Amino acid sequence: MAQLELCPGETMVSYADLAPRERETADLTKANLVKSYHPFSKSGHFVSAGVLVERPDGTYQIFVAANNEVGPTLFSCAEQGVIREVSNHIQEEELGNISCMILVDQDGSGRATNKPPFPCPTCRGWIAGLAKRASWGEHLPIYVFRTDLEVGVKTTIGVLLPHMMDFP
Ligand SMILES: [Zn+2]
Repeated sequence: MAQLELCPGETMVSYADLAPRERETADLTKANLVKSYHPFSKSGHFVSAGVLVERPDGTYQIFVAANNEVGPTLFSCAEQGVIREVSNHIQEEELGNISCMILVDQDGSGRATNKPPFPCPTCRGWIAGLAKRASWGEHLPIYVFRTDLEVGVKTTIGVLLPHMMDFP
């Protein structure tokens, strides 16, 4: 694997480092790679995103979504899909119960990738918007995993998108 350059505030993690519910989220996110739909891009990259919501009463919910191409230049990244899922299915005041986001990818030929899939610039903006609504601000934890879940990076949206903008 190519050497990963970590930013300050990031740590390497593997599946074994995750808490039980985070592992379940990682498993479901990885299993959801089969939902990736990318008929237009020749490189066909499978990406899946998961969000874990843990409530104070002990209940929890896991949301997943995959990347979805609807035209040669029109697509929705997995991160945008899962943020829509979360926004549509839990109340605004519950967003503070989001524990983490997990990203997993696979290359176009179905093989494991060498490098974890860090979010594109647009998705960093989407995630920042969610983090603000979820009261996490820049500290929202994001796990970015290679296909095998063995090699990952724990980061935050504040590291991926420093100086997040304030909406008036
Ligand atoms: Zn994206």
